Amino acid sequence: MKAWTIKEPGNRSKLTLTDKEIPKPKNEELLIEVHYAGINRLDIETRENTSLTKPYPILGVEVSGIVKENNSNNKALNPGTWVTGLVKNGGYAEYAIIPASRAIVLSKNLTLREGAAIPEVFLTAYQTMYWLGDLKKEETILIHAGASGVGTAAIQMAKKLSNAKIIVTAGSQEKLDFCRQLGADITINYKQEKFDEVILQKTGNYGVDVILDFIGANYWQKNMNSAAVNARWILIGLLGGAKVEHINLNEFLAKCISLKGTLLTPRSDEYKADLVSAFQKNVIPYFASGEIKPIIHDVFSFEDLPKAHKAMEDNENVGRLLVNIK
Ligand code: NAP
Repeated sequence: MKAWTIKEPGNRSKLTLTDKEIPKPKNEELLIEVHYAGINRLDIETRENTSLTKPYPILGVEVSGIVKENNSNNKALNPGTWVTGLVKNGGYAEYAIIPASRAIVLSKNLTLREGAAIPEVFLTAYQTMYWLGDLKKEETILIHAGASGVGTAAIQMAKKLSNAKIIVTAGSQEKLDFCRQLGADITINYKQEKFDEVILQKTGNYGVDVILDFIGANYWQKNMNSAAVNARWILIGLLGGAKVEHINLNEFLAKCISLKGTLLTPRSDEYKADLVSAFQKNVIPYFASGEIKPIIHDVFSFEDLPKAHKAMEDNENVGRLLVNIK
């Protein structure tokens, strides 16, 4: 089968389309004929990771496609079923393995294209808002990078599941307008305004109960200023750097802030299976009814995968970038 790996760690020129063996599903696994794969920042980080050693992996963490072999007892996943999910060992390929415990069967109203835009960003947003952030009904949540894949998923779920008051930041009016259409109540262009000042002004100095922080270091102090007493601050990404020069721990104490970091990919199979199970129960019905939608910015051909990486690196997308494999 054709699959994208790297010649060596580095920039997009190191991506290489190569021939690999079709993987064999083990017990409790599915072999998927891949139709679409999602592009994630993690794929770019893996591509650049200089500590990787040969043989270099097939990139990609999620796909949608059709079950070809079902090595589990779950008859709902028999060959021919349309599924989406987080893969084991690479998704930028014509075939991939999804453990049966984390396959999401697509509801009838969803296409395979739409299905590929769901797993990584919706599961991340669900896990961070509800499992780690303990978002409660009608609380206030700050979602940075509101037009990102994870951001667009988070806005929709925070509104539908919790009727939260949603504050987003993004870098352009077009992105902010889109966030508002999805359910954001207050939108802030972080390039033009100090988001902490706007938040304190708009919330009567209350601040926000939950922060989804994809940015890290260079938002540190402004996030601290924006946090309400008892805020849950979830660190999900480091787009603005990893090292904070000065931290005043007094502020953590005084506001009783909980700070949690998370990465989904290294979590155990059991954790991912439990997360998928909670997501199927609590969120998939909203996809079936059309109240929550996968947000797709662009779809590239399989051969054009380096262009999809470029679009993500250039921060072009509102929602997801996908590649079409079959
Ligand atoms: P995405 O769709 O590529 O969107 C990221 C957006 O962030 C960009 O389009 C850009 O939008 C904004 N941005 C980039 N650099 C920035 C900076 N320095 N300061 C402020 N904003 C910046 O991203 P995604 O796939 O949704 O992922 C979002 C983040 O979540 C990434 O950091 C990713 O690594 C992380 N993530 C973590 C997990 C986990 O398990 N922890 C899982 C999935 C994703 P603007 O035009 O608005 O600036």
